[in-house]
Amino acid sequence: MQPTDNNRSVFIASRVANEALDGWLEDHAVVVVGDRIDSVVPRGQLPSGIAETATVHELGDVSLLPGLVDAHCHMHCSATPDAQRLALTEDNQRLTMRAVNAMRQAILGGTTTLRDLGSRNEVAFPVREAVRSGAIPGPRMLVAGTPITITAGHCWFFGTQADTTEQVVSAVRNQVRQGADVIKMMATGGNFTPTANPRRPQYSAETLRAAVEEAERSGVQIVAHTLAADGVQNCVEAGIHHLIHARWQSSDPTAGLEYRPDVVKRMADQGQWVDPTIGHALLGEEAVEQRGLPGAPIHWAVTERMISREEHVEALSKMDEAGIRFTSGLDMGMVHARHDLTGANAWAFVEWLGWPNWRAIRAATADTAEALRVGDIVGKIKPGLIADLAAFDGDPGANIRDLGIASTVVQSGNVIKLNHQAFV
Ligand SMILES: [Zn+2]
Repeated sequence: MQPTDNNRSVFIASRVANEALDGWLEDHAVVVVGDRIDSVVPRGQLPSGIAETATVHELGDVSLLPGLVDAHCHMHCSATPDAQRLALTEDNQRLTMRAVNAMRQAILGGTTTLRDLGSRNEVAFPVREAVRSGAIPGPRMLVAGTPITITAGHCWFFGTQADTTEQVVSAVRNQVRQGADVIKMMATGGNFTPTANPRRPQYSAETLRAAVEEAERSGVQIVAHTLAADGVQNCVEAGIHHLIHARWQSSDPTAGLEYRPDVVKRMADQGQWVDPTIGHALLGEEAVEQRGLPGAPIHWAVTERMISREEHVEALSKMDEAGIRFTSGLDMGMVHARHDLTGANAWAFVEWLGWPNWRAIRAATADTAEALRVGDIVGKIKPGLIADLAAFDGDPGANIRDLGIASTVVQSGNVIKLNHQAFV
């Protein structure tokens, strides 16, 4: 971090996001005192001689946003085509080194708050503590530790395997004891795990409900991965707080999606959040089609009837129209989902779902902060909130692809990166 001789600093940019996150304040200054945003004022209203009482950073022709918030990371996964093999075979020390590097990449990319939804406990908790203590750089973190899955189920190789309701409840308690901020359940199989069928549920609604009750008793959030229509329905019946992917694959291997409007209506009525992970899909598609890189291995359970991007996007659009609120979670660490590219979620919201740019920017900041239950401290450039900021060259309000790698990053008032120069 760049040393400062006082605890007051000023960041001046051509464009500063307004509090509502629907437009720019031209040529404004964000005044930071300690770790908090003190005020946002036009440059002309800064007191003369401000440079004598504060460290003034002229960021120039950039767009200054709140630090980005990502709802879905796997800190120790490699984001390469062989991510699954590495997660399966590498020891905890090697995975820890990957995680430390990935968390540095994430914060230098502009993600200042992140939720990790599945990494070995021995890696996830010490990395979170090292970031908290300032020993290594990284975003503010909410961490699940090991996801709860069935024997041989989705991500069993870094999960806690629990089959019965009793075992699941015990697994929730065990994660809470070890310091989990959030519980991650694998409600269906997944594409990352050959032994887990993504078209079928892993748990009944009753078992998921028991896990929800246990998480709520312990005061932690509970989220669930689900790719199958039956899995989505189970998560809705159980009251899972945040559904991950929320795809609608039929259990019939020869069929496509089974969208269920009645289930979506109940989901909306219950205020359940959805993380559609479409940024990951976009990055995967571009890596394969535009850069000729190998993609993720195709799961045996979906080869009989491949489901197109258009079908998935159509289902997400219907959920959007039904009032479901989406978060920005990349599934960082999965194949081609680089830890510094959370912005790809916003690209996909605009380019695939047709959202206005500022709506996608809100998803990448304030909305996801709200879903992670930290919206009262981060997610906006607003006096009183923690001074987490990310500046981007260009104008993401006009061109969403400008929401790429941040040129300047401020975390809790500390300068992590300034005009492309990293200090960590
Ligand atoms: Zn994931």
